[in-house]
Amino acid sequence: MWNYLEDASNYQGHADKILIPQTEAELVGILAEAQAGGIAVTIAGGGSGLTGGRVPEGGWCVSLEKFNKIEIHDGFAVCGAGAILGDLHAAAKRSGQFYPPDPTETMAAIGGTISCNACGSRSFMYGATRRWIRRLRFALMDGRVLDVRRGDKIDFEVIPVHRPASTKHSAGYPLAAGMEWIDLISGSEGTLAVVIEAELELQPVPKEMLNGIVFFSSDADSLRAVEAWRSIPGLRMLEWADEPSLGLIREKYTDLPKAAVACVIVEQLVEDESAVDDWVERLEEQNAMADESWFGSSEADRERFRAFRHALPERVIQLVRQLGFSKLGSDFSVPVEKNREMLDFYRDQIAKRFPAPFAIFGHIGDAHVHVNLFPSSEETGVEGKKLMDDFARKSVELGGTIAAEHGLGKRKRHFLPFLYSEAEIEAMKAVKRHLDPKWLLGRGNLFPMSPEHPGA
Ligand SMILES: Cc1cc2nc3c(=O)[nH]c(=O)nc-3n(C[C@H](O)[C@H](O)[C@H](O)COP(=O)(O)OP(=O)(O)OC[C@H]3O[C@@H](n4cnc5c(N)ncnc54)[C@H](O)[C@@H]3O)c2cc1C
Repeated sequence: MWNYLEDASNYQGHADKILIPQTEAELVGILAEAQAGGIAVTIAGGGSGLTGGRVPEGGWCVSLEKFNKIEIHDGFAVCGAGAILGDLHAAAKRSGQFYPPDPTETMAAIGGTISCNACGSRSFMYGATRRWIRRLRFALMDGRVLDVRRGDKIDFEVIPVHRPASTKHSAGYPLAAGMEWIDLISGSEGTLAVVIEAELELQPVPKEMLNGIVFFSSDADSLRAVEAWRSIPGLRMLEWADEPSLGLIREKYTDLPKAAVACVIVEQLVEDESAVDDWVERLEEQNAMADESWFGSSEADRERFRAFRHALPERVIQLVRQLGFSKLGSDFSVPVEKNREMLDFYRDQIAKRFPAPFAIFGHIGDAHVHVNLFPSSEETGVEGKKLMDDFARKSVELGGTIAAEHGLGKRKRHFLPFLYSEAEIEAMKAVKRHLDPKWLLGRGNLFPMSPEHPGA
């Protein structure tokens, strides 16, 4: 979908060679040659990343697109790193199963989602990608190919780092005493290993589900509803979009109620039809636009609502390309009890400092909304970047993270010291040096680098 020298955030790079190995032996050969020649290697997945992680800044770009095997078994799938997420979803569905992590962008490759530890809207119930990996096969820069299962511990010592109190977090290496290989490699953003293949857990497709897009004519009511609905049993999605977000897709969705200034998107596992009556009550209690809200329980409804939700980030990316700026989007998540405080901070700062369009939507169930800023000039572009830095600091101050699901890549690596102490970053660099002493893999991701001393 995106070419090898950019990603969905519009971050641009360059490479001396683009290599597309057909086999594992060929991949290992490429890594050995790079190791011998001191050549940086950046791994390309589907290109839907939002942090510049897959964008090379010199050296070789290696795409795993030929590693596209998908085997479906009872309870699990075996996928090559280049298998496309949408193909996995479709194949799992044909077997009456589903793969829980759903970072909505179906063109992502499995290797990319593992390397970012991607989440998405259903992560409200199912958590991040890491949790669904049962076995992982990956290549290291020292020539080894490891095939590890859940439970297999790393074979070297690490210094533990702290974890923020948000429910979602994917920034830096989650170092812990006695940690497992899968937890280290997943989320490492292509800096420690090249993911080759994974065995991923599948779940049976739930029998009954109810989906809804609930519209509100009051922003405050929509946010009160979020807090009231967070603990509803069986809820596997709790998403939210503000008025500017709805404005982005009104042209596409002409049936979107005119008076709506916010919406809450829900998906719930249900036992029977009585669940509908519960929602009728809830909508009334929360002063929602009951008659104009959309509910459905069929596969087609689910797909329609999924497309509606996905239209938001898609439109943002389209707009960013039109404007010609790099994407200015946040990925911060705070402890759920701090959700309102963080949102108020975003809005207050935008009102004071950013005289250009913006839109806020996303995974509010995990206190993880994406703030999207659309600069209209160089000045607003500069201010937008400063705002993002201040949002990152505020997230940390509230006990949250600097990246919940997209990682840091190159565009957001300067956030790392906002969350971690120097000693913690040094502990991560020690792991990097241990597995990739010449600092060749995913160079520039997570840690800034200079040609003389890449890991400095
Ligand atoms: C419209 C849209 C909506 C999105 N919504 C969500 C969302 O809701 N939740 C979410 O989590 N993300 C979301 N994303 C972001 C994106 O889909 C994820 O980050 C995805 O995990 C990236 O996968 P990819 O294959 O496209 O990776 P790429 O962009 O190709 O690469 C991402 C990183 O992974 C590394 N990598 C890729 N393959 C390998 C490999 N085999 N071995 C080692 N490293 C590798 C790359 O070097 C890079 O650092 C969205 C993106 C778009 C465009």
